[in-house]
Amino acid sequence: MTQAITQTDTLVVGAGQAGVAMSEHLSKHGVPHLVLERSRIAERWRSGRWDSLVANGPAWHDRFPGLAFEGLAPDAFAPKERVADYFEAYARQFNAPIRTGVEVTSVLRNVGRPGFTVHTSDGVIEANRVVAATGPFQTPVIPAIAPTDTALHQIHSADYRNPGQLPQGAVLVVGAGSSGVQIADELQRSGRQVYLSVGAHDRPPRAYRQRDFCWWLGVLGEWDQAAIKPGREHVTIAVSGAHGGKTIDFRELALRGMTLVGPTESFHGGVATFQPTLLENLARGDENYLALLDAADAYIERNGLDLPVEPEARRVFADAECVKQPILQLDLARAGITSIIWATGFAVDYRWLKVDAFDAAGKPQHQRGVSSEAGIYFLGLPWQSRRGSSFIWGVWHDAKYLADHIATQRQYLEYRVAAPLVRPSPVSA
Ligand SMILES: Cc1cc2nc3c(=O)[nH]c(=O)nc-3n(C[C@H](O)[C@H](O)[C@H](O)COP(=O)(O)OP(=O)(O)OC[C@H]3O[C@@H](n4cnc5c(N)ncnc54)[C@H](O)[C@@H]3O)c2cc1C
Repeated sequence: MTQAITQTDTLVVGAGQAGVAMSEHLSKHGVPHLVLERSRIAERWRSGRWDSLVANGPAWHDRFPGLAFEGLAPDAFAPKERVADYFEAYARQFNAPIRTGVEVTSVLRNVGRPGFTVHTSDGVIEANRVVAATGPFQTPVIPAIAPTDTALHQIHSADYRNPGQLPQGAVLVVGAGSSGVQIADELQRSGRQVYLSVGAHDRPPRAYRQRDFCWWLGVLGEWDQAAIKPGREHVTIAVSGAHGGKTIDFRELALRGMTLVGPTESFHGGVATFQPTLLENLARGDENYLALLDAADAYIERNGLDLPVEPEARRVFADAECVKQPILQLDLARAGITSIIWATGFAVDYRWLKVDAFDAAGKPQHQRGVSSEAGIYFLGLPWQSRRGSSFIWGVWHDAKYLADHIATQRQYLEYRVAAPLVRPSPVSA
């Protein structure tokens, strides 16, 4: 029996926050659309992250404009399940046409007629446009330097859930962005000996002079930065909403017993080698921290704001032994390390999107999400239009831009000439 082909104007692939935002804006424009989600709404917030994760930004900030977190203080940090519940409730608010449990397996441009043919785990769909909202962080990346020693338990941060899942023993966490540093902190609090491999990072104060760093990045225009500054492509950001929200200070973690090491370079014969740049990375992180305090002070003064001074924010913790004498080589067995957690980021996977919207390196080719293949859109990419693009508040604005673009394109295509155009005949001399 042949299955009926579903027709829609715009097909949105993925119902994370990006897909939900896209659906809201398309609905506002009256664009017929469908959202397909292979799992559940906001699945990555439910099952793709560790158990104790809370949002990195406070509830007043990490949300869409159309709904506040119910029953959560504005300055609290929403636990991950609450974030997923929030997006489900948000989608219900406007009856988003989301079909869950349906995976998109391929998208192909039609030949000789407009639109795309979309194959899914539940039949075929014909769409005039496709929005890829499958997330900025799709495929966990473990670098090729990972040791092949099978005795070590190695997982990516995407597979970390809680300390109890790891075998007894010390843990090396590679990568000290928001995921790595939070996981390392949780493991250390659970009584583990933890080694944290620290690369280049920014570490904004959690809050300064009674304003959260999300507020400071907003008023100082930093969320709106259009592109990564050259040379900062590999700089992570270390922030956390855990334990009510605390500034990440690597020196403090070291004083509490965590062993900091530089970026991990290689593994040979059970020995890990670290780059000699730990002090440089800590110093740059401090510079970034202090620069934000300075910018905040200047903003307060310029605008005459009455926000209390906070000189203690400039206190520098003493250096623990691992900072004074950085370890450059570590025998993993002697250090009792039985697990490595790779908090080393993610890649994207668009193999299902078989269209001409990628550059030679396989990266989406687009301007603010409008791709080089007419009718194909990307949403939720890091730095899609600005620094905030891959975050909750930012994706909502990018979705609005794409929906405006789609509505405009539809207007062009709906244009019909009212009466045959009569051109004036040329005047003969
Ligand atoms: C550990 C961690 C913590 C974070 N914390 C915060 C935070 O506190 N605040 C903040 O603003 N941002 C945070 N982010 C960044 C960002 O908000 C999240 O990554 C968010 O999940 C991105 O939403 P998205 O909708 O773009 O993508 P995703 O949440 O990844 O959603 C994409 C959806 O597409 C579906 N999908 C994929 N392929 C297909 C297919 N072929 N067919 C059908 N469906 C498909 C997936 O199942 C998924 O549900 C965090 C990110 C990480 C990794």
